[in-house]
Amino acid sequence: MEKDKKGKVIDMTCLVCPIGCHLKVTVDESGKFVSVTGNGCPRGEAYAKEEITDPKRVLPTSVKIVDGEMPLVSVRTERAIPKRLIFDAIKIIKFTQVNAPVKRGQIIVENILDTGVNIIATRTVKRIKEASNG
Ligand code: SF4
Repeated sequence: MEKDKKGKVIDMTCLVCPIGCHLKVTVDESGKFVSVTGNGCPRGEAYAKEEITDPKRVLPTSVKIVDGEMPLVSVRTERAIPKRLIFDAIKIIKFTQVNAPVKRGQIIVENILDTGVNIIATRTVKRIKEASNG
């Protein structure tokens, strides 16, 4: 991070597309967004503003599964949720368990933390009997 007269300049990488532009984001002394350079398109500015005001992330994790061919099923948020809610979301998911079978795309937790975003399975897990029957 560099300091300048207006506040400070924060280096970040835009994660919106695979180009990954290197952004230099200027914020004022109170931490508010002032400007951005280095973005190859307007989406980079929107990303930088969101990162400064309310950053969001997709949460990939796993959930316990009962009678499954494996003990856990991988899950993720359908869309990015506010980063400030990630810890609380992990706590909910940690105490969640589902019964096998689970299908890829199945909703495991609906509308987590009132974000409007579901937690979905990212793979299919058969029941133990189904798995042993082929
Ligand atoms: S600023 Fe635009 S071109 Fe650059 S990584 Fe972000 S979305 Fe892609």
